[in-house]
Parts: sequence; structure tokens; C-alpha cells
Amino acid sequence: MKPAPFTYHRPATLDAVLDLLAAHGADAQILAGGQSLGPLLNLRMAMPEHVIDINDLADLGQMRRRDDWFEIGALVRHHAVATSPEGRRCMPLLAAAVGTIGHYAIRQRGTMGGSLVQADPAAQIPLVALALDAEVTIQSRRGVRSVPVADFVLSAMEVALDDDEIVTGLGFPLQSPTQGWSFQNFCRRRGDYALASVAVILDLAEDGTLADLRCCVGGTAPVAQRLADLEAGARGHHPTPAWQRDTAQQIAATVPAEDDSKATEAFRREIVEVLSIRALAEAVKRARVSEVQP
Ligand SMILES: Cc1cc2nc3c(=O)[nH]c(=O)nc-3n(C[C@H](O)[C@H](O)[C@H](O)COP(=O)(O)OP(=O)(O)OC[C@H]3O[C@@H](n4cnc5c(N)ncnc54)[C@H](O)[C@@H]3O)c2cc1C
Repeated sequence: MKPAPFTYHRPATLDAVLDLLAAHGADAQILAGGQSLGPLLNLRMAMPEHVIDINDLADLGQMRRRDDWFEIGALVRHHAVATSPEGRRCMPLLAAAVGTIGHYAIRQRGTMGGSLVQADPAAQIPLVALALDAEVTIQSRRGVRSVPVADFVLSAMEVALDDDEIVTGLGFPLQSPTQGWSFQNFCRRRGDYALASVAVILDLAEDGTLADLRCCVGGTAPVAQRLADLEAGARGHHPTPAWQRDTAQQIAATVPAEDDSKATEAFRREIVEVLSIRALAEAVKRARVSEVQP
């Protein structure tokens, strides 16, 4: 099928995008990498009257370190995040996870903002952004606002964005070089969306116990899950292999998980347990005792 007719706009400035959104927001869709919107238009699952192509907004294609933050424009491609030397040094979990998205061609076009707004339950970017406490910057003619990712992604394909707003970028607090981290996912075929994913970040105290643990699971429910109770209970424990196995079982037993056409709830829990053991073991292996204790 081909898309229903629409008016195509290719504004050269953010101001012009904001004007178009203010005028047509309810009947418009932003086109970034087109990797999700393209198929939706072709299948007529999306039939906007206006398509606003933002690919000429060079400023949204920049990423840079500023103070304790790594700022990534909404139009930065997955491939750029996965391969940027500075990104890999400052944000290793993000770079590793983004490098597993789809195929090379998709990573060349797909963008940070597009993936976040698409909010697929199995997508890598919403999951690791949640684990890393990222902030979303949103702009409209009414002003600029910043929202934690945890409050931005509401459900599957549903985000806290008004019709006249655009996501202009994401801010990530820098990862510390002593942090242990791991991203694990399981796909039926290489390049597919994952049936489940697990992201772990941890800090060790001087005595080798856990000073901080962050654990997120994606793909099992409409929105990625941050396991706050488990994180709080982990502090002070020695992350031994026995603790890793017990914790992985606990993650698999408590994370919300659903049956769907791709996998049963039971199979998803089994995958989550295996991925969690791998993620915890890898994160512990990578962690070093920090000189500056939290
Ligand atoms: C075969 C295939 C496999 C894939 N596998 C994976 C995978 O394994 N993991 C994964 O995470 N993704 C996967 N994807 C999706 C890919 O990551 C997309 O790039 C991403 O979902 C959407 O990004 P985009 O830039 O292409 O956005 P677009 O398709 O251009 O837009 C997606 C949505 O976001 C809106 N939007 C885009 N940018 C903005 C903005 N700045 N502000 C407000 N709204 C905006 C659009 O209006 C639209 O509603 C796959 C895609 C394909 C085709």
C-alpha cells in the first residue's frame, strides 16, 4: 500500500517547525528517521494531513558532553551514538544497547528522538534511558520543558507529548568509569525487536558490597520496568554468584510479564532470568571500587 495523501513540509529551522506544529499539531506528524513512521504511513495505520520532515535541523543532530551530562540531539542517529568514541567512553551502556538496534541500515537512519517517541515496549532507547535517569527536552511555541524519561513514556506507543510539541534532545547523567554495567537482550532473529531485555548498572563500596544497583527490564510489559524495590534491597549485599542467581530469580518472578503472539508469559520470565544472571555477572566483572565513595 501507499500512504494516504498528505502535505509534506521540510522546514529549515526549529522556529518554523514550532510554527507548523502550533498551526497543524493535531493533524501532523514529525518525520525523523522514518524507520517506524514510514511503514505506518504505507500501511495507512497513520494518516496525518501534514508530515513535518525535521531532517534539515542540523542543531538537533549534535551530541556533546556538558559538565556532568551527555546531551544528545533528537535527530542523532543510532549509529552515531553506538560508534562515537566520546559516547562510548561517557555512556558505555547507552552505546552498547543502541548498537544492538535492528540492522545497520536502520541504525543509520533511526534517531534518538524518534525511538523514544515511538515508545515500543521492546525498544532499547526507552529502556536504557530509564536505567540511566535520562531527561527529555521538549519544545513548543509555549516554551521549553524537561521531563524525566520515567514520566515521559506512559505506555506502549504513548508518551507525554502534546500535539504542538517536539522532542529536541535527551540528557544523560554521565556514567562513572568505575560503574559496572551490562545490557543483555534476546531476539528470535538477529535484528528483530527483543522478546526481553535487561539493563544493569551498579556501584561497589570500598568493602566490595553494593553501594548502588539499577535494574531495568524491557519487552515483557507495555513499558520498560525499573525494579525500585529490588534495587533498594540490594544495597549492602556482596554480589557473589549465589546472590546473582537469587537476584535473577527474583527479577524474573516479580517483573510484570504478559503473553502475546510472540511469547508466553512463562517463556518471557525464563528469558528474563537468564538475561539477568548474565547482566549481573557482567556488571560485577566490569565494576571497580570507586575512590570517591557515594
Ligand atoms: C526492521 C526494523 C527493525 C527494527 N528493530 C528495532 C529494534 O530492535 N529496536 C528498536 O529500538 N527499534 C527498532 N526499530 C525501530 C527503529 O529504531 C526506529 O528508528 C525508531 O523506532 C524510530 O525512529 P525514527 O527516527 O525512524 O522515527 P520516525 O519513524 O521518523 O518517527 C517515529 C515516531 O516518532 C515521532 N517523532 C520522531 N521524531 C520526533 C521528535 N523529535 N519529536 C517528536 N516526535 C517525533 C514521529 O512523528 C513518529 O510518530 C526497527 C525498525 C525496523 C524497520
